[in-house]
Amino acid sequence: MDFELSDEEEAFRTAVRQFGDCVLRAREREIDTSGRIPEEVLDEMAHLGLLAMPVSAEHGGMGASAVLTELAAEEVGRGDFSMATAVFFLLEAGWGYILDRHGTEAAKKEVLPSVCAGKAFLGIATTEPTGGSDLAHMRTRSRRDGAEFVVHGEKAFVSGVEEAKRMGGGHLTLTRAANGFNFVYVPTRSERLSTQKFENMGRMGISTGGLTYDDVRVPERFLIGSEGKGFDCAMEGFTVARTFVSAACVGAAERALEIGTAYLKEREVFGARLGKFEGPQFELVDLYTQVEAVKWQCRRAAWLLDRYTLRGDASHRSEVDKAVASVKLAAPQIAFDCVKRVMMWHGAAGYTKDVGLELGLRGIMSYLVGAEGGLNIMRIILGRELLGRDFVPYH
Ligand SMILES: Cc1cc2nc3c(=O)[nH]c(=O)nc-3n(C[C@H](O)[C@H](O)[C@H](O)COP(=O)(O)OP(=O)(O)OC[C@H]3O[C@@H](n4cnc5c(N)ncnc54)[C@H](O)[C@@H]3O)c2cc1C
Repeated sequence: MDFELSDEEEAFRTAVRQFGDCVLRAREREIDTSGRIPEEVLDEMAHLGLLAMPVSAEHGGMGASAVLTELAAEEVGRGDFSMATAVFFLLEAGWGYILDRHGTEAAKKEVLPSVCAGKAFLGIATTEPTGGSDLAHMRTRSRRDGAEFVVHGEKAFVSGVEEAKRMGGGHLTLTRAANGFNFVYVPTRSERLSTQKFENMGRMGISTGGLTYDDVRVPERFLIGSEGKGFDCAMEGFTVARTFVSAACVGAAERALEIGTAYLKEREVFGARLGKFEGPQFELVDLYTQVEAVKWQCRRAAWLLDRYTLRGDASHRSEVDKAVASVKLAAPQIAFDCVKRVMMWHGAAGYTKDVGLELGLRGIMSYLVGAEGGLNIMRIILGRELLGRDFVPYH
């Protein structure tokens, strides 16, 4: 077993860390207050190959492995503590990969180069106003009409709606069909498609919105996978994207501990530096131990993706599902805990925007409440794999 990165991987990680340290940290507050990731930041990400990393070179990406993408997600999560840039990064990586793997050649050529260049946005639309966890009972439908699909219904809490409207692009959209589920790419500027914007509490640099489809017509070249079989493609995308979500949370957790460690060394209370007291010192040690554990859990999940999922090999599906669900269950909780405890070490200062911990708190919270699947859904996946399908509480 070799934990060492290759020279190329190490060099790439150094370049992304530098970008995170110099560009993202300097602009994270601006990203949060302005509500958007500046164009020049996206340009630099494109220049580094950070947009839709796993997409093949033929379609504008760098054909990166899941491990390399996971490493980059960590650095982006550490750089922009608000998580907005990490969300942008991981949505394009996960769903860019799915379009590249299961889309038609015409769709790949039309959509992916501009996504990889930072000139268009690509996201995922599965959640509906009536619920996001129980996808099998979604209401948005699509039906074939000649060489088109007609989509009718409503999606909600979808990331990147404003970005796709402004920059161009759209969302891979899961819909019910006569014979199962169709997964289709729907450009946000389509006719008869209207959008709404939600006011979130965090990760303000990327919007969350609603999409209403009033018989939106989508050409058949935008079908992902085969007709009626879209559910599996969407689940594959979640498996990949959840790994990168977890990596971004690891990066954010490390950033919080970095802020906390510096403070423990510097702050004096009762005539001694705060880090000398066992209360906060042991908390730091425990948090570090948990973050290290989840970091390697995450690296292993990415390694499994490279070994099986990204090669179209479903032979280790259960192992992959367990690895990904357990890391997506653990990483956001540990990251949130790190931020909360470091805030406590700071006392009143931790509650101010000057220290900046609240950026992380607000951003990471999105992964606790549900983005890319709620914690209980990860538990249900794990319960199913550990006990068997008979123990899933619904069918
Ligand atoms: C910031 C943000 C960005 C998002 N971006 C996107 C996006 O880009 N695209 C998209 O499609 N969606 C997106 N979502 C929506 C996200 O996928 C959903 O929030 C998630 O799937 C949960 O759905 P829900 O919010 O409708 O909660 P519900 O499904 O109503 O669930 C409510 C609560 O009950 C729990 N729960 C549900 N079923 C069970 C069960 N059987 N047993 C025990 N507990 C259960 C859930 O874990 C959750 O805590 C985003 C959400 C957020 C917060």
